[in-house]
Amino acid sequence: MGKKPKHVGVLALQGDFEAHRAALARAGAEPVLVREAGQFSDLDGLVIPGGESTTMLKLLHYDNLLAPLQEFARRKPVFGTCAGAILLARHVSNPSQESLGMIDIDVERNAYGRQLESRVAVLEPEPSLRERSGPEALEAVFIRAPIIRRTGPHTRVLARYAGDPVLVEEDKHMVATFHPELTADSRVHSLFLSKL
Ligand code: GLN
Repeated sequence: MGKKPKHVGVLALQGDFEAHRAALARAGAEPVLVREAGQFSDLDGLVIPGGESTTMLKLLHYDNLLAPLQEFARRKPVFGTCAGAILLARHVSNPSQESLGMIDIDVERNAYGRQLESRVAVLEPEPSLRERSGPEALEAVFIRAPIIRRTGPHTRVLARYAGDPVLVEEDKHMVATFHPELTADSRVHSLFLSKL
């Protein structure tokens, strides 16, 4: 008998949730699209996808999901990618907006500027990622990505691009400023699943 698949929610209000659903299924999880607070109780973890963080925030308020999401993140792992990383950060600039503060990082939105609106980069894993996910380089798709300008004393950097952290974890939570759901490599999703 194999291990029971993990029930991982993907917040499906806006953005890139469908690609995350597929990536989680490829990594061996049982993904569920989440649109209502009642769904949180069945989940082992949650992915907040990329998209437009301001819109996602508005929809979280509108659907009364902000408090349930905060409560969930106190108990279970959450993985935020791009806009999801912005929502989980402590402070957000350019422009500033409300965020959940679940991970001790400060982010600047759209910080790579026009010329880097969308690009594929190759990342060398930091030692803490290499140990767990192997030494192979990681292909990373950046789309109007934020830059992580500050990390806290308990934040671990797993990968960098041009010197800036782009994949970090703190305790049970993880954020990526790129889009691991858009490449065939499922190591980043598998790493998140290993936290559940
Ligand atoms: N630029 C978007 C924001 O600030 C994030 C982009 C993305 O998620 N790909 O919310």
